[in-house]
Amino acid sequence: MSSAPVHTAYLSVGSNIGDKAANCRRGIRALGAHPGVEVRCCSRLYRTAPVDYTDQDWFVNAAVRVATVLAPEALLDWLLEVERAAGRQRRGVRFGPRVLDLDIILFDDLVLGTERLTIPHPRMHNRRFVLQPICDMDPQLVHPVLKTPMDGLLERLTDPHQEVWPLDD
Ligand code: AMP
Repeated sequence: MSSAPVHTAYLSVGSNIGDKAANCRRGIRALGAHPGVEVRCCSRLYRTAPVDYTDQDWFVNAAVRVATVLAPEALLDWLLEVERAAGRQRRGVRFGPRVLDLDIILFDDLVLGTERLTIPHPRMHNRRFVLQPICDMDPQLVHPVLKTPMDGLLERLTDPHQEVWPLDD
C-alpha cells in the first residue's frame, strides 16, 4: 500500500444467484487484488431472507473490514469493477437478484451524501444482514450519525422477517 493516508472501511458482501457462498468468498478475495485495498477481517457467512424485494431467492451475506488508501469514490469504482468481473448485470428490478453485491457501509467516521454515494449506507441501520456480520468483527463500532454502537443497532431491530442464520458449510 502507498504512503497515502490509510482509511478503514466496512463493506457488505452478498449474493443470491448460483453458488452464493463461493461468489461471496471469490468477491472478498477479489477485493484485495487492488494494490490500495487490504482485507483485514471477515465476518462469518450468513444465509439471509431477502428484504425490500422479497419475491426472490435467499441470500448469502457477509461483511469485511478493509484498510484502503483509496478515496470513497475510487473505492466505489473498485467495488463496481469487482461486481462486473463476477458477472453482475445491472438490469431488472432494483434490489433484485444479483451474483455479487458490494456496498460501502462505513468509511472512517465520514458522513457523505453525493449523487453517487451515501455514507454511512442509508439502510444499514435497518438491516440485520448488514449489522450481524459487522457485529462479528466490531460490535462496539459507533455509527457516526446515530452515535450508537453496532450491537445496539442490532438489538433495536424487531422485524421478525429479517432472518439471518450462520451458514454451516
Ligand atoms: P446497488 O448495487 O443496487 O446497491 O446500487 C449500487 C449503486 O448505489 C452504486 O452505483 C452507487 O452509485 C450507489 N450507492 C450509493 N451509496 C452507496 C454505498 N454506500 N455503497 C455502494 N453503492 C452506493
